[in-house]
Amino acid sequence: MPVNLDPENWDEFRAESHRALDMMLDYLREIRERPVWTEPSEEARARFKRELPQEGRDVSAVLEDFDRYIKPFATGNTHPMFMGWAQGAGTPAGMIAEMLAAGMNSNCGGRNHIAIDVERQIAAWMAQALGFPPDASGVFVTGTSIANFLCLLVARDQAYGDKDVRLNGLCALPGQLIAYASREAHNCVRQAMELAGLGARHLRLIPSDERRAIKISDLRRAIAADRAAGLRPFLIVGTAGTVDTGAIDPLDRLADVAHSEDLWFHVDGAFGALAALSPALKPLVKGLERADSVAFDFHKWLHVPYDAGFFLVRDKEAHKRAFAANAAYLTRAPRGLAAGDTWPCDLGPDLSRSFRALKAWFTIETFGAKRLGQCIEQTCRMAKRLEAWIAQSDAFALRAPVTLNIVCFGVKDDEDGSLAREIVMELHERGEAAPSLTILDGIPAIRAAIINHRTEARDIDAFIEFLDAALRRARKEPHDFGALVEPHGPGKTRLSED
Ligand SMILES: *Cc1c(COP(=O)(O)O)cnc(C)c1O
Repeated sequence: MPVNLDPENWDEFRAESHRALDMMLDYLREIRERPVWTEPSEEARARFKRELPQEGRDVSAVLEDFDRYIKPFATGNTHPMFMGWAQGAGTPAGMIAEMLAAGMNSNCGGRNHIAIDVERQIAAWMAQALGFPPDASGVFVTGTSIANFLCLLVARDQAYGDKDVRLNGLCALPGQLIAYASREAHNCVRQAMELAGLGARHLRLIPSDERRAIKISDLRRAIAADRAAGLRPFLIVGTAGTVDTGAIDPLDRLADVAHSEDLWFHVDGAFGALAALSPALKPLVKGLERADSVAFDFHKWLHVPYDAGFFLVRDKEAHKRAFAANAAYLTRAPRGLAAGDTWPCDLGPDLSRSFRALKAWFTIETFGAKRLGQCIEQTCRMAKRLEAWIAQSDAFALRAPVTLNIVCFGVKDDEDGSLAREIVMELHERGEAAPSLTILDGIPAIRAAIINHRTEARDIDAFIEFLDAALRRARKEPHDFGALVEPHGPGKTRLSED
C-alpha cells in the first residue's frame, strides 16, 4: 500500500480548514475582549510533556487541542494593551499570506522561481523607502539580530580588502578590528562581535547624551585613541530607535564621521528605520540614506507576522563577496530551474529559507506604504498622550525623553524601583496590560513600547487607570519582593574599556 500525507477525504479536510480559518479570524476580531496575557494552565503545560505519538489523529482533534491548549496562552502582542517589548501585532492579511506561502512551500534559497522575484521587489521597495540606490542588495533573515551579524561579516571582509578573510581566517590577518556603537545599542551588536570572532571587548560602547543619543565627540576621540594604539577601526553602528527608549543617534553626523574615517556605517533600525514611511517622522532618521547598510524588522512596526528581518546593503558586490559560494549543487545553469544570477543564498548563510517575502509583499500591497506610515505615526501620538499624562502626574515620573513610541517612567520616590517592578508584574498577571520593565541608570523603569496598530486613545486612558489602581494596591499591600533578580534584558551590557 502506498502511503502519503494528503487528506484521505478532501471534503472533510476542507470543512476543517474553514473552521480553523474562522477560529483565527474570530480570535483577531475579538482580541480586545480577552486578557492581554494568561499564564498557561497546568493542564496546558502537561499537554506538552507527552510521549511521541506513533499514531495520528483526525485534524479536527488536533485543532481542538490547539484551541484549548495553545491559542489562549499566546504572548499577547496581538492585543492593543500589549506594550511590553518592541513586538509587532500582526494582521489578518499577514496571516492569510502565511497560509498561502505554506501552501506553495517554496524553498527561497535560490533558483528560478517567482518567490525570488518577490524578494527582490521587497529589496527595491525598501531601498526606495529608505533612500538607498535602486540596485541595493537585500535579503530576508529571521530578525535584526541576525541582520546586524551579517553586517559585521560584510564590513569585516571589506576592511581586509583582498586579504580573503573567508579563506585565511582572522588570526592570519593584520590588525585587530574595532567597532563603535552607543551605550544604548542593542545587545545583539555585542553578540555579533562575539559570533564573528572579533571579540566583544573590541566593541567600543560610546557614552550617550541626555537624549540617549551617541556623543559624537566621544566617538571621534575613541577612534583616534584606537588608531594611535595601532588598532584598526572598521565599523560604526548607529541606532535608529534604541530598544530601551527609542532614542535616535545623529545619523547624518555619524555618516560624516564614517566617511572621514573611512569606516563602514551600519544602522540598526530594527523598528525605527521604518519611521521613514511617515512624512512627519522621516526627518528624525535623516542620514539613514547615507548608510552602507541597514538592518530592520518587518515584524515590528510593519506588523508582518513573525519572523521577517531584513538586511539591506548599498554595495551589492560587497554583500555578495561575504557569502557567495560555488558548491556543485549551487551551480547556475543558462536555462531552466537552476538559472539566475544572484540568489538569496549568496547574500547570507541560509540555504533553505521560507517565503518570508510573500507576507511582506502581501502586507505592503494590502495597506500601502502611506497607511502603514500612518499607523506608525499613530503609535507615536499614543506615546505622547501617555507622556503628557505622566508629566502632570503626582505619582509617576518620566525616566527618559520620548523620541518615538517608547515611554519609560517610574514611581516618584521609588528609589530602588521595587514599586515599578511590582506594578508591571501585577498588570501582567491581571491580564490588564503588558508593559515591560527595563533598567535605566541602574534602576528599574516601567517601559511602554507602543507599537501595536490596534492601540487607541481609549487604551492609553485605560492603561492610565490600571496604573493608578496597581500603584494604590502596591502601596497598600506591602509585599515581600524576594531577591531582586536583574532581568536579562537587552542593551544593559557594559563592557570594560580596554
Ligand atoms: C528588536 C531589536 C533588535 C533585535 O531584533 P530581532 O528581530 O529581535 O532579532 C535589535 N536592535 C533593536 C534596536 C531592536 O529594537
